[in-house]
Amino acid sequence: MSTIGFIGLGNMGFPMAGRLAEAGHTLIVQDLSTEAVEKFLTTHPTAAAAQKAGWQNADVIITMLPTSAIVEAVLLKGRVVAGASLNTLFIDMSSAEPTRSQQLGAVLEEKGMRYVDAPVSGGVRGAVNGQLAIMAGGSSADVHEAKRLFEVMGKSTIHVGAPGSGHAAKALNNLVSAASVAVTVEALHIGERFGIDPQTLTEVLNASSGRSNTSENKVAQFMLSGSFGSGFPIGLMTKDVNIALALAEELGVEAELSHHCAELWRKTVEEGFGPEDHTKMYALLDRSTSTVSTTEERQAHA
Ligand code: NAD
Repeated sequence: MSTIGFIGLGNMGFPMAGRLAEAGHTLIVQDLSTEAVEKFLTTHPTAAAAQKAGWQNADVIITMLPTSAIVEAVLLKGRVVAGASLNTLFIDMSSAEPTRSQQLGAVLEEKGMRYVDAPVSGGVRGAVNGQLAIMAGGSSADVHEAKRLFEVMGKSTIHVGAPGSGHAAKALNNLVSAASVAVTVEALHIGERFGIDPQTLTEVLNASSGRSNTSENKVAQFMLSGSFGSGFPIGLMTKDVNIALALAEELGVEAELSHHCAELWRKTVEEGFGPEDHTKMYALLDRSTSTVSTTEERQAHA
């Protein structure tokens, strides 16, 4: 069993760190929110005793924070790296910027430490159930070593390549996911205007070639139900789309459709909807009608 530093106890980090504690690892946790830390230590009393131990006692330090800028600030300016031991394995599981991750990896290597970027897909439900898909960038030896922890948090790990490549793959995955959400929502609204119940069109998509994670796991559950409660906000999705677009620009790839998709998500953030759940796009992309009805409302009027 390892001593693991875990920084970032938000929607994703809290259940991920919880699974590691439940698997018998010793957790040293940190978050800006003292409430999140207190809740974690109450839920996982075995971690409470370890909190006085410094970062030098951690074999592995995991970050699950919103952005690259925050990861760098916490690790480098927040003196986590300064307090850690030689050979510590840093694993950044946040969705972050691949070129900045390459630079962070190089800085850590210079200090005699190790770095793996290992972002995740699968949402809050996947984090709670240990069913995340993990995509890792780093040396084979470091990714291999990290796998015993990934197996506690996820159902699969794909070693994508060198440091930064996990973050590149994650941004590209979310670009596809963001486009899928947008186009599925547009299809539902066109169908609805033609008189096809969105529930019925979703059934058609799921039985046909238009099916996707959006149609299978988001439309009925979070959009038509009106719960808009997937736990992944528009702001974070837009951040990932922007990372993918920056990568395309850096590499000279035109990516015309991706630019349209990015514009759509950015506009929504500019209009102040960043904190809303990303499944709320179902309501936001139908502004030509006055309201979007939930399943119950449609049934009541049927
Ligand atoms: P979140 O906003 O719920 O949690 C972030 C946590 O980081 C919060 O508890 C916050 O207090 C903490 N934090 C922020 N700044 C800090 C600092 N300087 N020091 C210490 N703690 C700090 O975000 P989340 O949904 O858990 O997402 C975390 C990362 O995982 C993001 O990069 C996100 O894009 C990615 N992600 C999220 C989902 C999802 O469904 N929510 C899915 C896959 C990947």
